[in-house]
Amino acid sequence: MKFCSDCGEKVIYKVPEGDNIKRACCPSCGAIHYVNPKIISGSLIYQGEKVLLAKRAIPPRENFWTIPAGFLELKESTENGAIREVREEVNAEIKVERLLSVIDIVHISQVYIIYLSSLKGNSFSPGVESLDAKLFSEEEIPWDDLAFESIKETLRFYFKNFPYSERNKKREDNLILRMSIDQKF
Ligand SMILES: [Zn+2]
Repeated sequence: MKFCSDCGEKVIYKVPEGDNIKRACCPSCGAIHYVNPKIISGSLIYQGEKVLLAKRAIPPRENFWTIPAGFLELKESTENGAIREVREEVNAEIKVERLLSVIDIVHISQVYIIYLSSLKGNSFSPGVESLDAKLFSEEEIPWDDLAFESIKETLRFYFKNFPYSERNKKREDNLILRMSIDQKF
């Protein structure tokens, strides 16, 4: 940031009183502009023993497969963000069942919050940000062509802990993948 978004004055970077990190501070109106990590909300969608993946039509990682996920909007819950991203990327409706993974991507200041959902009905198709949308069994997952490590880890965790053969087993609410990634994929 070069200019104050409140008054348009040139900002200076300094550590505000009582803080320990440099911030963009406005010498004119006194505003301190904090920049914090971004939240990405999404959903791993299953139907039977298969999961729904989308092939990315846009950078980063164009042409690689992912699960529907994207930046949370202001005043939106993570669950509603996941539902919206699924509509946008694969034109599908889901029933959100539980929290599946919370992953910090430390080096780019992002936090992934991924829910596990079932597909409502049979309808899905690639949205404008996707080239393709397809159901994959565990054996069919294009492991080498996944867009992000967070997605790979979430899929691994899902197939290990939520096998289709144990679909009706009651699971602990705290069975969540919790990890931190601090380097590029
Ligand atoms: Zn200002």
